[in-house]
Amino acid sequence: MKLIDGKQISQDIVSELTTEVAELKGTKPCIAFIRVGEDPASVSYVRQKNRTAEKIGITPLLFELPETVTQEELFAKVEELNADKTVNGILIQSPLPKHLDEQAAFNLIDPNKDVDGFHVQNAGRVVQEDPDGFVSCTPAGIIEICKREGISLEGKHVVVIGRSLIVGKTFALLAMQKGPHANATVTVCHSRTKNLPEVVRAADVVVAAIGRPNFVTADMVKDGAVVIDVGINRVEDPSKKSGYRIVGDVDFAAVEPKASRITPVPGGVGPMTVAMLMKNTFKAYQLQSRS
Ligand code: NAD
Repeated sequence: MKLIDGKQISQDIVSELTTEVAELKGTKPCIAFIRVGEDPASVSYVRQKNRTAEKIGITPLLFELPETVTQEELFAKVEELNADKTVNGILIQSPLPKHLDEQAAFNLIDPNKDVDGFHVQNAGRVVQEDPDGFVSCTPAGIIEICKREGISLEGKHVVVIGRSLIVGKTFALLAMQKGPHANATVTVCHSRTKNLPEVVRAADVVVAAIGRPNFVTADMVKDGAVVIDVGINRVEDPSKKSGYRIVGDVDFAAVEPKASRITPVPGGVGPMTVAMLMKNTFKAYQLQSRS
């Protein structure tokens, strides 16, 4: 099938983890969520992560801090959770309010509990191809899609649009690693790239992580390319009760006929992010049980 059903793949991962967690003897894995303020998207993301953890049998702990929390108070909470041996994973929901230093907060998390993979040490472990590190969930989810859908990156020209640490840059690093689900030749495009359509046209695999609806148009995509759309954008839609709908970065209707495989939005990469977070939490539990 041409369409990649990320929702189904993520449900498969959740059910595999549910079985693995049920087989554990003794205490179950535990993930702590820290959310600052009431940003509606953050509230919804954390609720979804909380629900998925519960479904698997991972114990979720939710710490809701006020928008006005100081850096010292936030750091004290992180340190408390670092010291708590019953907590295996810690996630600070991004974005934090502007007065807080987000990267400093990520770097304070015990790297062995950093299930979002944003700690400087885990970013470095991706570069060093250390299998015991934690890889940021969205790029890890794209690799998992490729693995499970039999999409080989070996020797392929992968063009990534976007260079954020959370998606584009980390995915580029993963795709160029040595290994069975990597070995790609990678080009990274960003806001300063010249002749971007021409570069993207040369791609066997396009990964779009920009944050702009309809950025990738049909004329940019080679016939038979694999198209992975990471974008999550709200566009006005008066026909919806909410007044908006979610679209990706790819002009799906125009690009789909040319692509050999394509992820939809919603239901493509999005659900994989939560599934990979749960996989990372299980991994953290296992690594901590070993030591
Ligand atoms: P970001 O804003 O941090 O990065 C966007 C990147 O796009 C930048 O590197 C920038 O150089 C590039 N860019 C911007 N304008 C460009 C242009 N005109 N030409 C070429 N490149 C351009 O965003 P992000 O955090 O990487 O997220 C990207 C998109 O992916 C967003 O829509 C976001 O909502 C979505 N996202 C989805 C998930 C998921 O779970 N599926 C996770 C994270 C982000």
